[in-house]
Amino acid sequence: MAGFHAAASLQRPGPEGGPACEAMPMAVPNPLARAQYLLAAHNFRQLPPDGGFEVAFAGRSNAGKSSALNALCQQNALARVSKTPGRTQQLVFFDIPPTTDRFLVDLPGYGYAKVPQDLQAHWQAFLDGYFGSRQALRGLVVVMDIRHPLKDYDRQMLGYAVQRGLPAHALLTKADKLSRGAQGNALLAVRRELSSAFGDTVSVQTFSGESKLGVEDARAVVGRWLEL
Ligand code: GDP
Repeated sequence: MAGFHAAASLQRPGPEGGPACEAMPMAVPNPLARAQYLLAAHNFRQLPPDGGFEVAFAGRSNAGKSSALNALCQQNALARVSKTPGRTQQLVFFDIPPTTDRFLVDLPGYGYAKVPQDLQAHWQAFLDGYFGSRQALRGLVVVMDIRHPLKDYDRQMLGYAVQRGLPAHALLTKADKLSRGAQGNALLAVRRELSSAFGDTVSVQTFSGESKLGVEDARAVVGRWLEL
């Protein structure tokens, strides 16, 4: 957890060596800023060894998942690689140097109705197997547009995690598009629904890749799961 202290401060001596004056904030190091593309896996053989810690990110196409990943990792184009044609049916792994066993895993944005049926079946089996057996998986982040939360696929992904006994965290993103009051109402409504559907294993927060609202909180959740 070394990189996730909420606030680090530096005590400076006061003038003439007198009492220390006001604490000066220091930049909080963000281990996720070192995240880099590692590989894209289309089947089990292509996955990295299953001995570490990983957090998976899911979200409907256009929900804001790439922007959320980029904001968490303080990078502009990290998640773009997940969107290149041909990668839409793969698990994209980012590692976090200097560690070699901590990963962020970008699950494809869903909305793949146009995918041929056999590929869809392959993908469904791959996802089922990944969620069912991947020991390294420590938690799931589900990114949802705050204006359209908890669609069928979101519930399906949350169900996968909860069934496995894994914690999940929902990001209600694009919160900057709503007033403060509307954000609060949406958060309450989603929290209530999650609690009745999944108990207390799913947490939720408001988020914005645009204004950076909630980025620190989300980073703390991911950092805790990865034991960074
Ligand atoms: P993805 O398909 O889930 O990876 O979604 P993207 O991250 O590519 O975002 C889809 C669109 O929503 C893009 O036009 C983004 O600029 C926009 N977007 C993403 N996050 C936010 C946000 O927090 N606020 C606003 N206003 N727009 C966002």
